[in-house]
Amino acid sequence: MTIDATHDPALQSWVESANSADTDFPVQNLPFGRFRSAAHEEWRIGVAIGDQVLDLRAAGLTDHADMNQLMGLAPNERRALRRSLSDGLRRGSAQEKAWQAALFAASTVELGLPCRIGDYTDFYIGIHHAATVGKLFRPDNPLLPNYKWVPIGYHGRASTILPSGHPFMRPQGQLKAADAAPRLAATQRLDFELEVGLFVGRGNRLGEPIPIASAEEHLFGIALFNDWSARDVQAWEYQPLGPFLSKNFASTVSPWIVTMEALAPYRRPLVRPEGDPQPLPYLDSEANRHAGAIDIELEVRLQSRLMRESGIPAQCISRSNFADAAYWTAAQLIAHHTVNGCALASGDLLGSGTLSGPHPEQAGSLLELTQGGKQPFGLPGGEVRSFLEDGDNVTLIGSCSRAGFRRIGFGRCEATVEPSWR
Ligand code: CA
Repeated sequence: MTIDATHDPALQSWVESANSADTDFPVQNLPFGRFRSAAHEEWRIGVAIGDQVLDLRAAGLTDHADMNQLMGLAPNERRALRRSLSDGLRRGSAQEKAWQAALFAASTVELGLPCRIGDYTDFYIGIHHAATVGKLFRPDNPLLPNYKWVPIGYHGRASTILPSGHPFMRPQGQLKAADAAPRLAATQRLDFELEVGLFVGRGNRLGEPIPIASAEEHLFGIALFNDWSARDVQAWEYQPLGPFLSKNFASTVSPWIVTMEALAPYRRPLVRPEGDPQPLPYLDSEANRHAGAIDIELEVRLQSRLMRESGIPAQCISRSNFADAAYWTAAQLIAHHTVNGCALASGDLLGSGTLSGPHPEQAGSLLELTQGGKQPFGLPGGEVRSFLEDGDNVTLIGSCSRAGFRRIGFGRCEATVEPSWR
């Protein structure tokens, strides 16, 4: 992960909105996604720049519109594409005239899922989340003995991953009160999960593990990810195989994948608390120890229907950080996922798991924020929340900052809860 001329904080773009201090998409970012300008159109590959989207094919940078194919490029080809984008979009570029015609105002296009997601794996690498939730479910045994040895995960369902902005219905499921038989009803404990989604770039062949030394060459980049959860359904169904219908009714992903190249300036050492076991050799490398973690500031905002109708802006309910929350790094997840020979493909999505920080106000879910519903909190406008109500909108945002570099952002990952059909 090298820092090069594309990260130069002095770079400015001829797309003026990309030079504003508060944009998520300055010329140093250049995230990829898919867009279309009319509902019947095929998806096109776009790159966000300020408040505009550059059509990659119209700009002459690809001869196809297949995002998954682009994600499978070799690392040197990816770096060359980033350089071409950076050169073409910077102020004074010879491409300015030609590329003007390939620009669309982001507000006028539909942003879809950033790629075709073939498979979705949900990890559980937020150690503070695992410990807090473990305490709620198993007070005597919060963190299971495998946690500090194995990056825990399970296979999710790609068909229910939704693009940001797509509403979803409150699901129904089996609910079981302690003193009654189970019944089928709409969930009463609907929750969000603050996660990042790691997108696989180049895949691997079945039977060929990816060593940790080259694991990041197989990662395309990172987006924001909300893995909505029905806690009452989860509590009854999760043993012995883990969550099932409590997690696969909807998950929301943000439209832009911030590439591993763009994230190069924001790397951090992997810090393990004193006394914790060292990772097994296949999960360990000098580079991973030195800069395996990624410093991404994360925030959750909630706006109820009443707040929306009263013109009250969304309220920040939690702040966290990927590097502080995660026990395992992206490279370790790739190395672990493939150590048994499992094949990953371009566009596969790895959810990080809920990224709660070490302090209660950094909780990445309502389950933690309200201590399982026992400590509701107030919203401006007088409402109280323990879990999500119909009409609630949850927005995740994220950004990377470091002295000497331009701040880059991830855009928004948001959706609104609609009433159950029951
Ligand atoms: Ca999850």
